[in-house]
Amino acid sequence: MRTARSGANLPGEDKGKMEDCIFCKIISGSIPTKMVYEDEQAVVFDDIHPQAPIHLLVVPRKHIPRLMDAAPGDEALLGHLLEVANRVARERGVAEEGYRVVINVNRGAGQVVFHLHLHVMGGRKFA
Ligand code: 5GP
Ligand code: ZN
Repeated sequence: MRTARSGANLPGEDKGKMEDCIFCKIISGSIPTKMVYEDEQAVVFDDIHPQAPIHLLVVPRKHIPRLMDAAPGDEALLGHLLEVANRVARERGVAEEGYRVVINVNRGAGQVVFHLHLHVMGGRKFA
């Protein structure tokens, strides 16, 4: 089990510091955020800077900094996040027309928040 301390020792700048993690603060309620969906393992909320008419973030309650930090034992959680992505896409009415699920890993790919999250985007055409 990864702790705040061991997380802080991960290679890279701020990749593992739960205490500074904006998504951990959203999950704990210290940054008030309207939840679209919640369960024991995950939360979903609207992206603050939407790139599409529907732009949701599916976030595990567990602080995993990056997809590449997922460990053996996280398989069920990762599968659950995809299932939640499907569910909220259906609930927001974009499932049939099409939606995009994206995970950015590291800064070169555009990751700016180092708490694993899935972007679920829909409601427009994608190139
Ligand atoms: P990344 O670029 O790390 O894959 O995605 C981070 C996403 O989180 C960005 O799309 C950004 O707009 C969103 N975001 C950053 N801070 C907040 C916040 O405080 N609240 C919400 N709802 N979204 C945020
Ligand atoms: Zn976090």
